[in-house]
Amino acid sequence: MLALSAIPVQLIADDKLSEDDPLAQAFGYKLDATTVDTEKFPKRAGEAGATQFCDNCALYVSDSAAEFGPCSIFQDKLVAAKGWCNAWIVNT
Ligand code: SF4
Repeated sequence: MLALSAIPVQLIADDKLSEDDPLAQAFGYKLDATTVDTEKFPKRAGEAGATQFCDNCALYVSDSAAEFGPCSIFQDKLVAAKGWCNAWIVNT
């Protein structure tokens, strides 16, 4: 039997955040930012809102062109580069 400590950390850290995760639901996270309910989350409404994606959020911690990357809020989970949540902050 494999000991838990033998499981590579990378496998755990590479978990993709599910939209069904309770914290993700609280923040209105969507894998595809274009599917956000803008009546419920008006921050992403309009022309300015439509430019918001995880990959241009200040809390997105990836400098690659990968489809998924780490986020400061959803620790140990990867979020979609073209996703979004209500904690989006402009990257200055
Ligand atoms: S905080 Fe930013 S990077 Fe993290 S899920 Fe929300 S929009 Fe995406």
